[in-house]
Amino acid sequence: MTPHMDEKLEPIFQEVIQRNPGETEFHQAVREVLETLGPVLVKHPEFTHHKIIQRICEPERQIIFRVPWQDDSGEVHINRGFRVEFNSALGPYKGGLRFHPSVYLGIIKFLGFAQIFKNALTGLPIGGGKGGSDFDPKGKSDDEIMRFCQSFMTELYRHLGEYTDVPAGDIGVGGREIGYMFGQYKRITNRWEAGVLTGKGLDWGGSLVRTEATGYGATFFVNEMLKVRNDSFEGKICTVSGSGNVSIYTTEKITELGGKVVACSDSNGVIYHEKGIDLELVKQLKEIERRRIKDYVSYHKDAKYITGGNIWEIPCQVAMPSATQNEINGKDAKRLIQNGCIAVGEGANMPTTPEGIRVFLDAGIAYGPGKAANAGGVATSALEMQQNASRDAWPFDFTEKKLEDIMINIHADCFATAEEYGAPNNYVVGANIAGFIKVAKAMVALGLI
Ligand code: GLU
Repeated sequence: MTPHMDEKLEPIFQEVIQRNPGETEFHQAVREVLETLGPVLVKHPEFTHHKIIQRICEPERQIIFRVPWQDDSGEVHINRGFRVEFNSALGPYKGGLRFHPSVYLGIIKFLGFAQIFKNALTGLPIGGGKGGSDFDPKGKSDDEIMRFCQSFMTELYRHLGEYTDVPAGDIGVGGREIGYMFGQYKRITNRWEAGVLTGKGLDWGGSLVRTEATGYGATFFVNEMLKVRNDSFEGKICTVSGSGNVSIYTTEKITELGGKVVACSDSNGVIYHEKGIDLELVKQLKEIERRRIKDYVSYHKDAKYITGGNIWEIPCQVAMPSATQNEINGKDAKRLIQNGCIAVGEGANMPTTPEGIRVFLDAGIAYGPGKAANAGGVATSALEMQQNASRDAWPFDFTEKKLEDIMINIHADCFATAEEYGAPNNYVVGANIAGFIKVAKAMVALGLI
């Protein structure tokens, strides 16, 4: 089924392009959602009357700021910081911070836009936002990271608050960076306000399972898609791109559920290990030593490192893109299908291009888009906020069970919505419509604001 834009929506989309020139990733994310919303407007004419689509495409607030910092040799550097507060109909703005040289307004806006619907799908009271910087953490010393995070927060703090805007991590931002930012927020405001950031350390207000949540959640989602098809992870050969937090905990949960992950990657190359990826080694290299994945082969002579390789050429039954946006194009998608792939679950945000999505949907495989499949990370952030609000700390198993239930519900919601709107098994339609309706109803209820 090739998606096309409803004639009422096309001019709205054209206006989005015109008002946001050059922001191609944002256009892509908006197009993908608008292409599925035609039938919603037929059932809900009030959304057209209230111009909900036009309003939802325009961020409530966009903040761009200078982030000056000094490296270890004393040289001054200037980066650009962003926070796009997209939609707060359902709760405080919520979404991660990305530190990566590719960051510009178009990336933050695509992420913030997708976050609105993802967060709505969790069923928890969180609005959508995203932020970050074009700062490149690669190769920086710990002191440089600290100085950058402090400078970043010195501007951002005024826009945050547990009831206002609650950032977390994303690419390039993990527990270490959240720690430095939390410290600076505390110092400037003189408030130990746990609920202002999530992804905190376990000794200072963090939640168990938050580190694992995106990967575990994506795997639970794929498990649900497989169950619908009377299938499971048992004995499945899987590839999981990336080697960061999402990739690592996806691999861990797949292995627990009986699958075998044979490949992972970073931006330089691919590791292929037919016996199955040695996850303890990946954790040691990436989480503790902050090294590159190519070093894996010096510990395992039977593993292969493919410089500049394409992980999607490796045959697998389940593919879980967990690196970055647009990492699977149409050609990669075709290759995956030819090699026998039956399920794709997106741990990353928008990892498949529109051509790739079309290939997966036309092939009728189980395709779980990021908004639904990777919602477990932000859902567990909302659980962290719940624990902070009640000054409580839940045990691991209890929290993991909550995450699993949330993912089961998101899957059921997307599945049922796709059926209701005449697109059975199309989780793109299901996720976009189910997420959109929740936000749209709240926007109508809250009036023209
Ligand atoms: N960056 C993650 C995402 O893409 C998590 C956001 C959060 O926990 O607020 O959903």
